[in-house]
Amino acid sequence: MITREDIRELAQFQFNEQEACALSFYFQPGRPQNKSHREESILAKDLVRNALREVEKNGKNGCARADLDRILDLAGSLHGNQARAKAVFASGRQNFWREFDLPPQLPGTQLFVNRRFHLKPLAVLLGAQPHLWVALVDRHKARFFDLRLDELTEREGFFRPLPHRGRSDGFGGYDGGHSQRSVNDEVLHHFKNVAEHLREAQEKGIFEKLIIGCHDSSWHDFEPHLHPYVKKRLLGHFPADVGNMTNDQAARILHESLDQRRHALVREVLSQAKSNNRGVTGLRRVLRSLELGEVQSLLIGDNYRAHAVECTACGHLDAHMVRHCPACGRSTRELEDVCDAILPIAIHRNIELFYVKDDPEFDQVGNIAALLRFRTDQSKGSRITAAS
Ligand SMILES: [Zn+2]
Repeated sequence: MITREDIRELAQFQFNEQEACALSFYFQPGRPQNKSHREESILAKDLVRNALREVEKNGKNGCARADLDRILDLAGSLHGNQARAKAVFASGRQNFWREFDLPPQLPGTQLFVNRRFHLKPLAVLLGAQPHLWVALVDRHKARFFDLRLDELTEREGFFRPLPHRGRSDGFGGYDGGHSQRSVNDEVLHHFKNVAEHLREAQEKGIFEKLIIGCHDSSWHDFEPHLHPYVKKRLLGHFPADVGNMTNDQAARILHESLDQRRHALVREVLSQAKSNNRGVTGLRRVLRSLELGEVQSLLIGDNYRAHAVECTACGHLDAHMVRHCPACGRSTRELEDVCDAILPIAIHRNIELFYVKDDPEFDQVGNIAALLRFRTDQSKGSRITAAS
């Protein structure tokens, strides 16, 4: 499986050539109900053969040839009914070749030959999935899971030692009450331990976001023990049995929580942008905020594409199709899709990334927006105001 570090490596990969030497190949196995569709492996081979023909026809992208041949071989070994999707990133000239298995949730089988790796399918899978923990907590136990690409991996957990059963059990009255109190103390102690464990894990950077599964009756008692920093990382809580948690359940919860988060974020960014506060909309402003290091979360329309230019010297991105960089004066080159340049920046800088689907209001503001950590122009503005 692909790791976060793998993706960061892909995002940071530098291509200095003028030629398009970076190959990104995604293979999505076909679903059995799509019988009318062509077998995916045949489709994959066709894609590669077409790309090879293009290379020969144009006499360009010679650097991609050897990699295309190799991917053609690989495509021959893939099957439409395999359980996992596959991604290959290659740049032969720089001796770079990486193959990854992915969950079979790609938009389709695709091949890209460009100056950068095409990372959108990965970003869709992973962009909004930072190191995520699911903690299941009840009055006796706590279990912790890593959730990555819809797969749960259990980490260490712990149990509260079972209470000693004294003679007074079953008699009720004063002793029964006493025993009940000590059980409550033990539960409280257990909750404190769990909260402390989460605080330590968060401090060590073992998780970035957290989902807690806990029945409402216990949540009231447990939640006050969570450290404020841990609470900040909490995506949400849901009722769940500690003994009983499947990948599907966790993935569903994650997706629901991400959907809610995305929905709330879109509303927040739009309102922040309207009030000229911590939100910006439209490509020009988003690019500016990215360059200023202001962006905390980035929202991109699912089908968003836009032309832009990129400075060949300083990397400045500009929504205006200018021939010379406004920042350094060197020549620019055209980008067919500015997202190819934005995604690596977002991944590299750990910017939270969401794709937005079917949202008319988001569509109206240009299908790209960002929530900002701070706003440089306004902090300057307030200083001026304060000085005057
Ligand atoms: Zn420049």
